[in-house]
Amino acid sequence: MNIKQLFLGIILSVLTLTFFQCTSETTAEAPKRPNIIFIMSDDHAYQAISAYGGPLATLAPTPNIDRLAQQGMLFNHCLVTNSICGPSRATILTGKYSHMNGFIDNTIGSKFDFSQPTFTKVLQQVGYKTAMIGKLHLGETPTGFDYYDILPGQGSYYNPTFINQDGEYKMEGYTTDIITDKAIDWLEGVKDSEQPFMVMMQHKAPHRAWDPGPNELGMYEDVTFPEPSTLFDDYSGGRDAAKLNNMTIASTMYMDRDLKMTDQPRGGLNEEQLKRWDAVYGPIYEEYKKTNPTGDELVRFKYQRYMRDYLSCVAAVDKSVGRVLDYLKENGLEENTIVVYTSDQGFYLGEHGWFDKRWMYRESLRTPLLVRWPGVVDPGSVNNKLVSNLDFGETFLDVAGAEIPSDMQGQSMVPILKGETPPDWRTAHYYHYYEHPSEHNVMRHYGITTDKYKLIHFYYDIDEWELIDLEKDPMEMHNVYDDPAYADVQAVLHQQLEELREKYQDNDSLNQRFIEEYNAKVAENPIIEYWKLTPEEFRKLNRQRAEVKK
Ligand code: CA
Repeated sequence: MNIKQLFLGIILSVLTLTFFQCTSETTAEAPKRPNIIFIMSDDHAYQAISAYGGPLATLAPTPNIDRLAQQGMLFNHCLVTNSICGPSRATILTGKYSHMNGFIDNTIGSKFDFSQPTFTKVLQQVGYKTAMIGKLHLGETPTGFDYYDILPGQGSYYNPTFINQDGEYKMEGYTTDIITDKAIDWLEGVKDSEQPFMVMMQHKAPHRAWDPGPNELGMYEDVTFPEPSTLFDDYSGGRDAAKLNNMTIASTMYMDRDLKMTDQPRGGLNEEQLKRWDAVYGPIYEEYKKTNPTGDELVRFKYQRYMRDYLSCVAAVDKSVGRVLDYLKENGLEENTIVVYTSDQGFYLGEHGWFDKRWMYRESLRTPLLVRWPGVVDPGSVNNKLVSNLDFGETFLDVAGAEIPSDMQGQSMVPILKGETPPDWRTAHYYHYYEHPSEHNVMRHYGITTDKYKLIHFYYDIDEWELIDLEKDPMEMHNVYDDPAYADVQAVLHQQLEELREKYQDNDSLNQRFIEEYNAKVAENPIIEYWKLTPEEFRKLNRQRAEVKK
């Protein structure tokens, strides 16, 4: 080594040292980007979360989900783009409407195209560890996750099958608890990593057929829940599409499968689980056979059974949220982890006499959304802006400091979470539902919702317009589309609707394409045969199926 080489060597060493000192100082100074825990249940109505108030709040409280409201922000108007399980999940992952991400309906054989961009793929690119645990329901195994452990299809409430990178396997226990265990196990593995994490923990509960867990079975047997004022809705008031529905508690909800009024053993339960199950439902079934309610009394009986089962499933989900929050606290992750709670859509708890979802009416259009983000979101804040599940992906990318792909169709909610609503925030929300003919005979429709009005077009199957004045008619019982007093309002809404359809690139030729594709799918699938019955035939068939063998 000559003098020149030695000199160069010293210079290089000093430079390298300086470089590493600088980078380590930078790392020490830059706060770690927030972790994100996204908890989504399936069909969890905001009416069944006590933080949202309402008549069920004191009777069936959700103290753990309420912690998110106390410590974070509760959204009163989080709307979905297409109120049905799979399409809602596809919208969340892509930040795009169904007609753009291609997953328009839940019908058998629908598969989400996982080769397309999703927000979790971008999060991976910017250094996040990502996981999908629980119910995915997109007909495919996912990409965009470092780890996945999912239920196949709808999954089961008890002793579920799971699919992970190594294949399919079975587990013993109650699915809500198992999904929570799995999520906490995954957190345990990543909590000390230099990388931030994002986990989507997605429950099966409280989806139909509402099987309560072993710890919640029978917990509401002493409670009588108040009936919604529209339990006996007759669908008058110019609501022709609603008249054709097949989703009432009265004639569509099964006494045996849904409400457990049967002497057949519940499928999928082991001996011990079945013993606990029968100890609760056996005496109720015996009493039911004795009293044998009919007519309106039967509807009331069914409503109480429905609420008791549904809310028991919710109670297990609430405990799950509590376990995750406790885990974060115990492991020093509480301060730098955003926790989001939502559902894939809203749900009817007897309003309009219904269960299920699909409609652009309030209970299925609105989904719960609560966000806890310490140091950013003011504890106990409430937001009334029109936000959407379309916005979730962009919000998470914004949180991570990632670039938001220009073809995503939502808006980042980060400014709203900081308490500053952007001046260009949406004042109308676009919706489009495609699934007809289908299980509950809900006609295809699209439309817009504003703070004051709702304009809906049942465009193909019956070609009818509905206009609802949300201030005067909060229960959504009257179609005022043809009322001359609303002529000006109607014209403005039509214009807004057309603007949004153009903005989101939805149009009649796309509708036509999806109608043809959907009808072809229905035509070749014999399982869907009964969907093609007339509403009267539907009801007759369901009455027969709903009648319990005595
Ligand atoms: Ca759902």
